Amino acid sequence: MTTGVDQSKAWFERAKAAVPGGVNSPVRAFNSVGGTPRFMVRGEGPYLWDADGNRYVDLVSSWGPMILGHAHPDVVAAAREAAVDGLSFGTPTRGEVELAEEIIGRVEPVEQVRLVNSGTEATMSAIRLARGFTGRAKIIKFAGCYHGHVDALLAEAGSGVATLGLPTSPGVTGAQAADTIVLPYNDLDAVRKSFVDNPESIAAIITEAAAGNMGAVAPAEGFNAGLKEIAHEHGALLIMDEVMTGFRVSKAGWFGLEGVAGDLYTFGKVMSGGLPAAAFGGRADVMAKLAPGGPVYQAGTLSGNPVAVAAGLATLRAADDAVYAALDANAKRLGDLFDRSLTEAGVAHTVQYAGNLVSVFFSENPVTNYPGAQASETWRFPAFFHALLDNGVYGPPSAYEAWFVNAAMGDAEFEIISSALRVAARAAAEAVQA
Ligand code: PLP
Repeated sequence: MTTGVDQSKAWFERAKAAVPGGVNSPVRAFNSVGGTPRFMVRGEGPYLWDADGNRYVDLVSSWGPMILGHAHPDVVAAAREAAVDGLSFGTPTRGEVELAEEIIGRVEPVEQVRLVNSGTEATMSAIRLARGFTGRAKIIKFAGCYHGHVDALLAEAGSGVATLGLPTSPGVTGAQAADTIVLPYNDLDAVRKSFVDNPESIAAIITEAAAGNMGAVAPAEGFNAGLKEIAHEHGALLIMDEVMTGFRVSKAGWFGLEGVAGDLYTFGKVMSGGLPAAAFGGRADVMAKLAPGGPVYQAGTLSGNPVAVAAGLATLRAADDAVYAALDANAKRLGDLFDRSLTEAGVAHTVQYAGNLVSVFFSENPVTNYPGAQASETWRFPAFFHALLDNGVYGPPSAYEAWFVNAAMGDAEFEIISSALRVAARAAAEAVQA
């Protein structure tokens, strides 16, 4: 059991005066689950410790990056070594070439890579590039998919936008959103119709390679292949957003599991080992349009930052077959525990996977798209979440997020999860709709 949250409470009050909503990314504020966000002070292996000294098994893993667990010795050593040599030069470095080569070596359709600082920047840049390459303006995205807080991509987005129940965001102008076509996920007919309705004006389809931001919703058999075929038939590009799945669900991300090649890819999270770095890449003929070789401008003062690059490289180099086997096994073990505890408590639920991303929906029906996710009994989630938290398990504070295991978890952690889940499942069963 956790033993009080006075320190987190006090820091949250202080934070609210200095930072809007007290947080630097909305979902951290616990708005959809209530209660006090935990201020974490330390992470090691599968655990996090908060400012009150409570320890949690971490099932968020910094929203994906920490596949090796927290403060992995190789990653910390690499970052430390790089930092000693200088924090930023604003020049080319050897490390950024090695990281680009590591990514290219893992994901076959990626022939060239440009490093940026966040997943948002990666998708924003990939879209600009797709527009520049095709000379077209429109973009197709899918409801419930989140691609960062790029203006044009906030429409009907997942993740925090879904958590807060926002259709889009004030501040995104009609002009910025006008070229975004939002379609239902897993619906190829809607995609075909959209290309017919918008002849020669769609630059690209952007999709999460497997959706993780409305909960884990894998693409239906043939969906990604269909997107590729339809896009190419109409002279458009397919952008596979692998910011969440990249280097997590397999060595080569979702591409490694499915083998459908996109024209452009976006990466983040795992590839920077928890520091701020991300990337976009893909076909060499498309990437050739980027400045300085081509006319599509894209830049960044801190892009390819040597410390972030060192942490990313160390993470990818440590992520061998054994790590991916552990991630898969831990995801299955977590999903089985969700299933068993909720079945025992008599709560209707569906456990879903997208590779080793796991979600539990309070619904009997498998979820294949955003309306399906919204139709689940999300009102049971706050009670479920808080019972886990009170019993030492830190899950995502939103019904619309995937759960992220790491390879550092073992029997001891699963015992904690298992007993916490027994309490949480009962809490979910007893929850009442407001
Ligand atoms: N794309 C996907 C699929 C994501 O899951 C996210 C973040 O969760 C992003 C893009 C944006 O990445 P960042 O938060 O680094 O800007």
